[in-house]
Amino acid sequence: MSLSSLSVDCNLCNKTAVYTARYSGRSYCSRHFSEQVEKRIKKEVRAQHILDSGTIGVAVSGGKDSMTALHTLLTLAEGRKNCKIVALTVDEGIAGYRDVSLKLIKEYCEGRGVEWHVASYADYMGMTMDRLVTMKRPRTSCAYCGVMRRQLLNSLSIDCGASKLATGLNLDDTAQSVLMNISRADVDRLSMMGPHEKEIPGLIPRVQPLRLIPESEVLLYAILNKIPFMRSSCPHSEEASRNLFRDIVLRIEDAMPGARYAIISSAMQMRPQRNGAPANICPECGAVTSGQKCRACELRDEISGLTADAK
Ligand code: SF4
Repeated sequence: MSLSSLSVDCNLCNKTAVYTARYSGRSYCSRHFSEQVEKRIKKEVRAQHILDSGTIGVAVSGGKDSMTALHTLLTLAEGRKNCKIVALTVDEGIAGYRDVSLKLIKEYCEGRGVEWHVASYADYMGMTMDRLVTMKRPRTSCAYCGVMRRQLLNSLSIDCGASKLATGLNLDDTAQSVLMNISRADVDRLSMMGPHEKEIPGLIPRVQPLRLIPESEVLLYAILNKIPFMRSSCPHSEEASRNLFRDIVLRIEDAMPGARYAIISSAMQMRPQRNGAPANICPECGAVTSGQKCRACELRDEISGLTADAK
């Protein structure tokens, strides 16, 4: 069979399709694919009131998701005088990875005239991730990294006066997080997943413009629209338990197209019962926490007691 006989037409014109969404059965050419992605992002931006007013911090790691979130929000904010987009990045101190993405983000932000703020683990916890992975420790490097990143992004948002923090979380990421929290019986974290509707003092509300866009569509959108992004992954990522849930979500979606949307919809329906976990103030750093001392301070204490691995 020739390749041409295998080609599929766009559902909205007679051009050759570049993408078929199994969950909807619809195929799109390059232009209509980008248009339908942008339409869904705009709908989320409106529903989450992301660009209504004020300063919006965008967490940018340099990967396809965060660069697409930054790029689309900047485009949507063009001409709006009542809102400002600021890029926020955490430098974990991972040689050959984060230093490369910092350069990419810097060039992009300079090109688009975007204010950019960076906070580093070296300053915050006195140690880079490259150093931490060499220590004897009771948990994976990602278990420290995720908590520290959340804390630093919240601090950066407060420092630059942001009223919202936008992340590049896509549909797959969100479905993985739901299943991870359920598997750990972590109802507090499940109830605190974004997008945040209620404001909790000291905790900048998270918004997620890409939350209903599948990862494969974010990737294709970034490529088709020439958005620069870093393709390599973190050298310490093999430790991430998220990898297990990535496989699980892909297998479920493969067997039941549309399951990712159903997982998120279920979590959202359960959420109003507990939206906004009880908030205390950490006595050490003043951050908002559902426990006594915040998790970041607990882990910082743990890190200061780690010793180098003899191996
Ligand atoms: Fe941090 Fe793990 Fe992500 Fe690497 S993969 S940046 S160590 S959370």
